Amino acid sequence: MSTPETETTSVAAALPDYAPVPESSFGPALNEQGYYVGRVERNLYWVTDGVYQAAFLTTQDGVVLFDAPPSIGHNLQRAIDEIARANDVSNKVTYLVHTHHHADHGGASSLFGKDVVRVGHEETRRLLLRDDDPARPAPEETFSERRTLEIGGERIELAWHGPNHTPDNSVVHFPEHDALMMVDIVNAGWVPVYVVNLSDDIPGYLGMPATALTYPWKTLISGHLGRLGTREDVILHQQYMDDLEASARSALDSVDPTPYFQKGGANLWAGVKGYLNAVGEATAAPVIEKYTGVLAAADVFTPDVAFWLMESIRLNHGYGLPVHP
Ligand SMILES: [Zn+2]
Ligand SMILES: [Zn+2]
Repeated sequence: MSTPETETTSVAAALPDYAPVPESSFGPALNEQGYYVGRVERNLYWVTDGVYQAAFLTTQDGVVLFDAPPSIGHNLQRAIDEIARANDVSNKVTYLVHTHHHADHGGASSLFGKDVVRVGHEETRRLLLRDDDPARPAPEETFSERRTLEIGGERIELAWHGPNHTPDNSVVHFPEHDALMMVDIVNAGWVPVYVVNLSDDIPGYLGMPATALTYPWKTLISGHLGRLGTREDVILHQQYMDDLEASARSALDSVDPTPYFQKGGANLWAGVKGYLNAVGEATAAPVIEKYTGVLAAADVFTPDVAFWLMESIRLNHGYGLPVHP
């Protein structure tokens, strides 16, 4: 008879082995409470639990918090308290700025109560009203394209560059801190996940790194994983996506659909699935080989990203969909 423990062990034993994560993809060690807080520049700080990231500015008018991931949860205030105590400034969160509406980046919002001024894109407001999650009150202060916040003597520039990861995903530029917060686009040191980093609009997603590079900044707060990013991280991510796109086009040119539809016969979906899975695998293979040891988890998530990028190249660009003669 199997106990829960032996069952756990046997499930783990059956899971695949992956390439080791490059040391450079990791960030600083977490403290006993499970977070790390560090300075980005002057009074701009970032907090991570190793998987998610938030940021905050200490100002004369209290603390401005950027995103509130539930996985960091109560450690957000602990991190703020730690910094406020050390610098003898207010620890009261007075503003909460959302990058986008997703619960995994905003689900700790209600911890900061009703008196906080919540700021977000107008679509963030619409989507949060729709989702009606008591953990994520909709922002009252919104913007459509751009908005500059002047809070306690600090300048914060919010900008929306069109739909990408989500319809509302916006960037936060800190011109006086040489930093950019752009969440769920580039995972510094790591590959994107699943459907091209769970993107609602893949062409919009693909354009965001170049948009990010039009801003002057030195530090990227990417919303994920354990370290901050650099401009080199964004350029490496662009190369990875460019290589995948080139590989998808050559896979669409070279994989012969005939055997998959022969085998599928009257079951057309079986033929479609067999063929497109084969194109996805052919897309991923050379890119996994090139980026293993360069970007963490290249062997874990490149097959998913490759498949959905290839689908976007077919459906958005019409590549590999010739008109019947
Ligand atoms: Zn998201
Ligand atoms: Zn995310």
